[in-house]
Amino acid sequence: MKISEIYEHKKSLSFEIFPPKKDSELKNIDATLEVLCELKPDFISVTFGAGGSSNCNRTIELAKKIKFNYHVEPVVHLTCLSYNKAEIDEFSRVLKSEGIQNVLALRGDRNPDIPEKDDFKHASDLITYLKQNEDFCIAGACYPECHPESENRILEMKHLRTKVNAGAEVLLSQLFFDNDYFFRFVEDCRISGIEVPVIPGIMPVINAAQIKRMVTMCGASFPVRFQKIINKYENNKEALFDAGMSYALSQIIDLLANDIDGIHLYTMNNPTVAKRICEGIKNII
Ligand code: FAD
Repeated sequence: MKISEIYEHKKSLSFEIFPPKKDSELKNIDATLEVLCELKPDFISVTFGAGGSSNCNRTIELAKKIKFNYHVEPVVHLTCLSYNKAEIDEFSRVLKSEGIQNVLALRGDRNPDIPEKDDFKHASDLITYLKQNEDFCIAGACYPECHPESENRILEMKHLRTKVNAGAEVLLSQLFFDNDYFFRFVEDCRISGIEVPVIPGIMPVINAAQIKRMVTMCGASFPVRFQKIINKYENNKEALFDAGMSYALSQIIDLLANDIDGIHLYTMNNPTVAKRICEGIKNII
């Protein structure tokens, strides 16, 4: 099923997972998938490492498992900066032959260790190319607090509109900890004529190192009220877990109360986190 069809009827609940680093660990992911899939998400998206065919293979392997063993719709992330058209054609061929219909089309982060190729400069180039050649449902990434390379919000919106005009049918957002950024961002999208579903990405924080890494990596603002919680409980693992869960739940409930199109949970492959969040919203979503 194409994930764009979900939004004709309902809000979505979806998870992001990443492929294990080693082939041997791919077998152990079943315990995680069993719990995640019992929660009946509308789809599970699988991240894609920047460059290197082994990453790609593990993403596709995992997506196949999700689809055929657990009967949940997978969304395969696909980056383009370090690939040429022939390589993207080969990924597309494999995805099609496995019956995978949904792709999150991304540029990918710049990495000095991975050479960039010339065929695709932006995610919108990949989307245009995929749409010309294939019949995938395409999702794109979006950034409620602007992409770190962005010059300003106006240009960011212009580029996002290019991405949607190229064929992105759903937008999945970068994580954020302050819902006001997301609400303003959706408003900006609608003013700019972007009408596709914009799905907020929520990452429940369960340890202090994780949040420091996330804030550095993606530039998400760290509201004072959340900072106080982290400072207070960072040396008490159980308390921080409870506090992180409650904070994420309060974000999600506020988003749902404001009629957003769905929730995309960054699970970090932790089924306990996903289960706890789903229990907290089972009568709401
Ligand atoms: P783009 O849409 O190309 O945007 C990147 C920058 O270029 C932005 O500043 C944008 O404003 C600008 N831009 C866009 N179009 C133009 C244009 N025509 N002219 C000038 N400037 C332009 N990375 C991975 O490696 N693997 C993953 O699995 C992965 N999953 C992700 C999932 C989500 C939900 C999100 C939000 C991000 C994910 N990323 C992943 C990270 C992503 O690859 C990076 O954030 C990357 O730096 C940008 O990717 P993009 O697709 O948003 O790029």
